[in-house]
Amino acid sequence: MKIEVLTLFPEFVAQLVKYGIPRKAVDAGVLTLNARDIRAYSVDHDRRVDDRPYGGGPGMVMEPGPLTDAVDAAKAAIGPVKVIAMSPQGVPITQDWVRRLALEPGLIVLCGRYEGPDERVMPAVDLELSLGDFVLSGGELAAMALIDAVSRWLPGALGHEQSAEADSFTNGLLDHPHYTRPPVWRDVPVPEVLLSGDHGKVARWRLKQALGATWLKRPDLLEKLQLSGTHAELLREFIAELR
Ligand code: SAH
Repeated sequence: MKIEVLTLFPEFVAQLVKYGIPRKAVDAGVLTLNARDIRAYSVDHDRRVDDRPYGGGPGMVMEPGPLTDAVDAAKAAIGPVKVIAMSPQGVPITQDWVRRLALEPGLIVLCGRYEGPDERVMPAVDLELSLGDFVLSGGELAAMALIDAVSRWLPGALGHEQSAEADSFTNGLLDHPHYTRPPVWRDVPVPEVLLSGDHGKVARWRLKQALGATWLKRPDLLEKLQLSGTHAELLREFIAELR
């Protein structure tokens, strides 16, 4: 997947592919990330890309020219891919969005600063995405969060030992709890079933804990699911065991 991020802070965005899974994705050849400096498209002698808002008021607005020229240059580089603007007014990012976007051949991601872009940039944008109902000072962290999450779904980025399929939200549930050595730590033992070597029992226990964790922490997610008979029974067991 080819990703172009349009930003006033290209060095900041480039950090993303120096660490962890995004870095592995680049090394595996399944991801390229180019951080394109919007300032390079300024026609101003002092490389300005913002100006005062018409109508008055505080803050500065990103001029439409440099931004749309940067979008055009990004399209010339990687093809006519979807253009996403990071924005608090966008659709909140979910795992469903992440999986869908991971299937795209490429993405152009636009990061705002100041009060955001001049509204006349919007016809060049296919989708606005938000990190959540709060306001960041720039779109970079939101873009990096999105690209990190997408990179987990690119083939070859995650090893076999780590599967994105088992992660929280993938099947509508939160993940089950995880344990590693030592078997007893500060008097707390690892649940016995995990030491049993019985894969069927382990899978049943994990599903039960995933259902239970979702019921406890994110009941709103459970309400969206039609639980099968087995799932409903496992959840009843989990609740009974709490008492
Ligand atoms: N005046 C704007 C906010 C501008 S914040 C408003 O209230 O809608 C500056 C930039 O930060 C935005 O253009 C956007 O790119 C980014 N940003 C801020 N909050 C964000 C969020 N929750 N999700 C994604 N991007 C965000």
